[in-house]
Amino acid sequence: MNWITNYVRPRINSIFSRREMPENLWHKCSECGTMLFHRELSDNLNVCTNCGHHMAITPRERFNALFDGGVFTEVAVPEPKADPLQFRDQKKYPDRMKAAQKATGEKEAMLVANGEIGRTPIIATAQDFSFMGGSMGMYVGNAIIAAAEEAVKLKRPLILFSAAGGARMQEGILSLMQMPRTTVAVEMLKEAGLPYIVVLTHPTTGGVTASYAMLGDVHISEPNALICFAGPRVIEQTIREKLPEGFQRAEYLLDHGMLDRVTKRTEMRDELITITRMLMNQPPAVRGDLPAPEPVAETAKDPAEEAPAEK
Ligand SMILES: [Zn+2]
Repeated sequence: MNWITNYVRPRINSIFSRREMPENLWHKCSECGTMLFHRELSDNLNVCTNCGHHMAITPRERFNALFDGGVFTEVAVPEPKADPLQFRDQKKYPDRMKAAQKATGEKEAMLVANGEIGRTPIIATAQDFSFMGGSMGMYVGNAIIAAAEEAVKLKRPLILFSAAGGARMQEGILSLMQMPRTTVAVEMLKEAGLPYIVVLTHPTTGGVTASYAMLGDVHISEPNALICFAGPRVIEQTIREKLPEGFQRAEYLLDHGMLDRVTKRTEMRDELITITRMLMNQPPAVRGDLPAPEPVAETAKDPAEEAPAEK
């Protein structure tokens, strides 16, 4: 319009916007409030360097740190029928799916991978809480079956990382059917004499706790993870009693015999190597001899970088 709006204002804006800090460089710990530099945080697997609080980690970041050299291939999962009930709450189910896919850059709430840890070949599968609360729908059921079938075919142990708010209500009864389906899948591993190790992460609740997350040969949890069927608030309101300190948290469940181990995320890889080698009747890993995992790559959502690396 005039000299001020066309020239002066854009110049001023550009000077000020240049000074702004990129928003995602720092992350505030939700437990102790410390500001953590994003690279330092991802190098420490999203565990607060000040208080040790375990923050959420995506399956892809976890697998990059878990597998030798960060190398793994994805196991294909059969696609279920989309939106079988034509479900709609405030939003249509397909719209919710699209939003979750856009926000996470993943297709669904579970990732299945084939690779080696400490030179021991394994199949691993991890649930993504950031994808619709990691909810167990038909895809998650298919993913666990695909993981179990792959493990049986290749005679490898299966390691599952659980994180879920429960069943996916948008799929109604079809999501609940994943409980018996995944139980049968776990049974396939047991019949084949292969170890099934469950790593429970915060939070693992609902139908997931009532099926495949509690059927492992070994149950390990990350510190302070909430693991329950019904949450503490629901129980407190039902029985009208004050619940004990730390109720349904990992350490409490370890004390009461529900878990075998509570292990820090930064020590999880070594522990999983030891346990899988022990259960597969292999000699213990020699420390220093094993290839170290690569540091977690910057989460650039470039499709070329996202392609699984070939072994
Ligand atoms: Zn902290």
